[in-house]
Amino acid sequence: MEGKDGREGQGFGEPFFSFWQAQPAHPTNKVLILFVEVCVKTLVKLGRAYPWEKPKQCPKCQSVRLWGHGYVEAYFDEAASQSVLLKRYRCPECGVVLRLRPKGYWQRIQARIETVRQNLLDRIEKGRWPPNSNPPRQRHWLRALKRQVRMRLGMSYAERLAEGFSELLSLGVCAVSRAV
Ligand SMILES: [Zn+2]
Repeated sequence: MEGKDGREGQGFGEPFFSFWQAQPAHPTNKVLILFVEVCVKTLVKLGRAYPWEKPKQCPKCQSVRLWGHGYVEAYFDEAASQSVLLKRYRCPECGVVLRLRPKGYWQRIQARIETVRQNLLDRIEKGRWPPNSNPPRQRHWLRALKRQVRMRLGMSYAERLAEGFSELLSLGVCAVSRAV
């Protein structure tokens, strides 16, 4: 189950994400998230029939054998209130579980990264949230961003939140995560 943060947005350039990222919430479970090109709306439409592309090898041990390992349900703004099924694979050699997730999203955040960024930039630069937005959720993002910036980048970034957001993004850190 995913978090309840986020709104739909537009596409996002993708120089920021490496192919996979460790899942910080379960460091001992050997779960890796693989960010892949996948259209959320098509996922809704096709469900289990979606033709997931199997990773070429295990990112951990390089084994080329990977087995299907079922699906997990996830929610995205783009899919409204419908859940989508995200494919998992398991490496029989090292036991790692790979969870595929659409590029352009952070874990547990239902909004696209670009949407989160745009909302926060509006608030930081213009002093107000964009129209038709969801201020409670966005206030949460802003609080979380301030905390992440302070904890991970230091006080010198306290007045440079937009820069801090980009910096965290390039580090592969969810800039609006509650967990530090
Ligand atoms: Zn492996």
